[in-house]
Order: sequence, then C-alpha cells, then structure tokens
Amino acid sequence: MEKEIEIYIHVPFCVKKCAYCDFLSGPGDEVTIEHYVEALIQEISQCNSKKRKSTSETVTTVFLGGGTPSILSPAQIERIMGILRETFEIEKNAEITIEANPGTVTREKLKAYRCAGINRISFGLQSTNNEELKLLGRIHTFKDFLESFHLARSCGFDNINVDLISAVPRQTVESWEASLKRIIELNPEHVSAYSLIVEEGTPFAKRYGEGTEGEKELPAEEDERMMYQRTEELLEEAGYHRYEISNYAKPGRECRHNQGYWERKNYLGIGLGASSLVDNIRYKNTDDLDFYMKHAGEPDKIQEDMEQLSVVDQMEEFIFLGLRKMQGISMKEFQDVFGRTLNECYGENIERMQKSGLIVMEDGFFRLTKRGIDVSNYVFAEILG
Ligand code: SF4
Repeated sequence: MEKEIEIYIHVPFCVKKCAYCDFLSGPGDEVTIEHYVEALIQEISQCNSKKRKSTSETVTTVFLGGGTPSILSPAQIERIMGILRETFEIEKNAEITIEANPGTVTREKLKAYRCAGINRISFGLQSTNNEELKLLGRIHTFKDFLESFHLARSCGFDNINVDLISAVPRQTVESWEASLKRIIELNPEHVSAYSLIVEEGTPFAKRYGEGTEGEKELPAEEDERMMYQRTEELLEEAGYHRYEISNYAKPGRECRHNQGYWERKNYLGIGLGASSLVDNIRYKNTDDLDFYMKHAGEPDKIQEDMEQLSVVDQMEEFIFLGLRKMQGISMKEFQDVFGRTLNECYGENIERMQKSGLIVMEDGFFRLTKRGIDVSNYVFAEILG
C-alpha cells in the first residue's frame, strides 16, 4: 500500500550563534560543511534499502531546516535535492521548504533553489527593529531582510514564511506591533510568531535568566500577554488565520510539513540530531558531529533512543500535539485510531478543563479556548494526568 512520509533535513551550521539560541547549531568552516553535505548524501543513500523501497512511500513534504541551510552553496543544495529524488518518490506537488537567514541568500542561490524544486522559503527575521536584532545577536538588519524578501519574490517564491519573536528584552508592545505591521505590509503567506524563552546554557540565560539583573529588562507578564493578543488581532485583521498556537497563514498556505508533525504523520529526520517517527517508533540521530560525519551511512550506529511507542504514549501525543491546532482534535478520529472514545480515556480530566473554561467541545472537535491557549501547557498536563 502507498504510504506517505515527510522528510526533515538538518543543516547545523550558522554564520554566528545567536545569543538566545539553544538549537543544535553553530558556525562551521567550508571544509566541515562540505564534509557534512557528503555525510547527508551517504545517510540519504542508505535509505534506498530494499526494506524502505518495498514500503513504496511517497514523500509529501521536505523541510531543510537548521541551523541555516541557506549557508550551503547552490551546488550543495542541488546535490542534496538530487539524491533525495533518486532515493525517494517525491509527490509532484510536494511542499519543499528551505529555512534562510536574511543576508545569506543571493539571486544565484534563490534561482538554484527554484530549479531544485524548492517552493517555499522561511525567513528567520525575528524583529524589524535593528536594536532588537542586535540584542538578539542576529547577523542581519531589517534592510538585509527586505532585500532578501524582495529577491525571493522576484525569483518566483510565492510561498514565504516570516519568523518573529516577541517578549525580547526591552521590547515594548508598540515596538512589537510595529514589527507585525511592517511584515503585514509585505504580505507574506505565513507568519510564525513565538515568544522568547530564555533557555539554559545560552548567553541570554546569563544576562536575562532568573535572578540576574537583566531579568528586569524582559517585558512584564501583562505586556507579554498583550503582545500575544495583538499578534492575533493584527494578523487576523490582515487576513491570516491562526491555525496553531504560534502559526498564522493566508487561506491554503498553512505549513503542510508542520501540520504533519501535529497530526503524527510518519517523518524521517536526516542529519545531525534529527528525530524520526516511523510507524510509531521514535528515534533520533546522534548529535555528535564528528561521529555523525564518520558513520552517516550506518543507521545502526547513528540512530539512538529508539522507542516503540505504547498505545498510551500514542494517545498522549495525539492529544498534546493535536490540541496545538486551533481546530483541535477530532473525537471520531481518536476513536477510529484507538478503538475507544476520548471520554472513556480522559473523561474526568476533560470535564474538569471544560468546567474551567479552558477547553470546549464543538462539532465533534475538542479544542482549547482563548484562555486555554494562554495556559496550554497547564491544560495538556491536567488532561493527561
Ligand atoms: S540563525 Fe537560528 S539556528 Fe542559527 S544560531 Fe541563530 S537562532 Fe540559532
């Protein structure tokens, strides 16, 4: 039977590490980057085993993420896309996304992406305010972003996402609104708006973490909530609909790849530290760069933490990933997948959350209310017990 699968490819290199970032990423020299691309090619090639071929999968989305995949040369991107097409059956209308940092794309690169079949670009802008960009440790200015954005349009990209971050130190509700309004004027098809989290182990944690002097420079909780609220208001007025807690899209421009994650579709993660979910088995690749590059063609060596999910694990994922979507989760689908109703499994907890006004059940779907979205992690924990 024809199965569908999504592919994520991790490129862990960036021009410079941003001050708030705890992703698996960092600077890399040309030789290491080339060596890494070779390793990716080896890992992809070994997917072409009899076992995988016999499953006759169709790839519905590809996402080149990082890191900064746009740091790669056009020839390197072409090689990765070439081996993917040789190895997998990629759907004719597959969504193929590349993440790019403003200032790292050129006309030559963008044209090469288009030729390689990449049809969506996701710009990590974060703010339109140059002071905020500097504070975040970003390598680009807003002007650099504008150039990259217009260049992408002129090269035929008609599906562009812009990433923004709110609750940046010293940010005001007004400056956040100004960022949103400037982006809305540009009319991208998709906007991702996340709140800054001060992650342990980052330079930001030293400057703005709990108990530091800098902590006071983080926006107050009520300002943060106001930013959240204004995000939804301004984007919805401009024709974007919120389809996930932090994601907004013009109709029909939702990110299919991320929707697949929330719907627990099968996905294959390729590259350093990339995670996979295949037929309810979760695993991840090593995050040791040297080890990965040495053994990329040997799945048994690079794949770690292999876990067959129990039915309870699957139900829990179904709920906490599904509730991230504004549409919520279909009660019928839950029953079709697990052979039991949601109420049979989590009835008491659901009733309590309903009484608290944090979730509602409507038209066969069970979803977070506006208040529930504000405290989504609490709701997930309460439902799952
Ligand atoms: S560009 Fe993105 S992945 Fe790279 S360091 Fe900055 S936030 Fe992290």
